[in-house]
Amino acid sequence: MIKVAKFGGSSVADASQFKKVADIVKSDPERSFVVVSAAGKRGKGDNKITDLLLLVNAHIEYGVDCTGLLATIEQRFVDIALELGLKFPVAEEFDRLVQNIQSVSPEYIVSRGEWFTGQLMAEYLGMPFVDAADVMVFHHDGTVDMERTQTRLREAVIHTGGSFVLPGFYGSTVDGQVKLFKRGGGDITGAILARCIDAGLYENWTDVSGFLAADPRIIDSPRGIHRITFEEMRELSYMGASVLQEEAIFPVREVNIPIQIKNTNEPEHFGTIIRETANEHAREHLITGIAGKKDFVGIYVQKAHMSNEIGCVRRALSILERYGVSVEHIPTGVDSFSIVVNGADVKDSIYSIVADMQRDVKPDSINVLPGLALISVVGRNMSRRAGTSGQIFGALGEAGINIRMITQSSQEISIIVGVQNEDFEKAIKVIYDRFGDAVVVRQ
Ligand code: ASP
Repeated sequence: MIKVAKFGGSSVADASQFKKVADIVKSDPERSFVVVSAAGKRGKGDNKITDLLLLVNAHIEYGVDCTGLLATIEQRFVDIALELGLKFPVAEEFDRLVQNIQSVSPEYIVSRGEWFTGQLMAEYLGMPFVDAADVMVFHHDGTVDMERTQTRLREAVIHTGGSFVLPGFYGSTVDGQVKLFKRGGGDITGAILARCIDAGLYENWTDVSGFLAADPRIIDSPRGIHRITFEEMRELSYMGASVLQEEAIFPVREVNIPIQIKNTNEPEHFGTIIRETANEHAREHLITGIAGKKDFVGIYVQKAHMSNEIGCVRRALSILERYGVSVEHIPTGVDSFSIVVNGADVKDSIYSIVADMQRDVKPDSINVLPGLALISVVGRNMSRRAGTSGQIFGALGEAGINIRMITQSSQEISIIVGVQNEDFEKAIKVIYDRFGDAVVVRQ
C-alpha cells in the first residue's frame, strides 16, 4: 500500500522534530511520499515561519525595512541545517531570495517557508525533492487544475523512482505564477497527492492524537475517537469541533482513501481514522462524539391557520436570504415555525429582519429568542436504534435542563438539541457522562 504522510508545521518546527519525522518515515517502508508544511511554532510564544513571511510582505508593502525579520527567518533554517549536518546551501539560497525580494510576488515569498522546509527534509530523509510549483497546477482563479496536476505528479513518481518530499501549501499556474492554498493548506496538498497517485492511506501527522469525543475544555480527558466516518466528521466540525478543512477532505473522500490523524510526538498512539464507512467492528461506541456552539438566535413566528396558507415559510426565508443570513434549522409546528440562525450573522440586522417579516408574513406574533446553544450528538450507531434520543432527552430532563429545540439529521446520525447558553456546558457533561462510553454490540 502507498501511504502519503503529511507533516504539519509543529512536526517540522526544529531539528528535534525533524528527527521524529525521520523515525516515523523510516519505520514504515510504505511511507514513500512526504508532504511538509513550513516550520511552525517550537513552543508557546514562538512564531510560524508562514506568519513571519506574511509580515515580510507587509513590510515591503509599506516600505519598511525588514532586514532583521529576514535574518530571523533565515536563522531558523540555518539552525535546522547545522544541527542535522545538512549540506543544503541555506545562506546562499536565502541571499538569492533577499536580492530578489522586491521583484517576486507576495505569494512566492510566503511559499518559501514550505520550500526551504521541504528542501531540508528531503536531504535529511535522503529522498528526492519535488517542487510543488512544478506539479501542483492552479487555474488563474485559484482552483486546482486536477488533470494537469495528476499528470505531473505521476510523472514525478516515475522520475523519482517512486518516492519524494513535496512542500505543501503552494503550486503555480501554467505560466509559472506561484499560487497559495488558504492558511493550513498543506493538508490539501497532501490530500491531492494521495488522490493523484492512488494512495491507500493519507496520514496527517500533527500535534494531537486524533479527535476527541468531546471538548476537553468541558469534559475532563474525554476518550479519543478511533474511527469516524466522513459524514460524522462533517457534523462534528460544523458544530465547532476543530478538525480538517473541508477542502482537505474532499479529494480523498471522493475516491475512498481513508485519512489517519496521527501525533508526531506520540507516534504509537492510534490516532483517528476517517473513512467512508466504519462498521467493521463488533463492539462500537454508541456515540462517536459531541460538539456544540453557543449564541444562536431563534426567530419564532406564530400565525393562526398558517397551515392553510401557502408560502409563509418561503417568504420568511427569502427575507433572510436578502440579508445574506444562512439558516441553521427550521423546526415547524402546525401554526408556527422557528428559524434558527447564527447570532453573529444577525447582530446588526435582527430588528430590520423582524420588521420585514411583520410586513411580508403578517404573523400574529414574532418572538426573538437569543442565547440559544446547539449541541450535536453524533453517532452512526444511533441510527435505526430505538430509544437513544429518548434517553438523551430523559437524561437532560433529570438534570433539570430545559430543551428549547430538537432536530435530527436526515441520516439519523446526529441528534441536535437546543438549550439556553447557560446550560450548554452542563448539558454536554450530562450527555457525555451518560453516553460517552456506552457501547453497542453489532449482530
Ligand atoms: N504553512 C501554511 C500555514 O501556516 C500552510 C500549512 O501549514 O499547512 O498556513
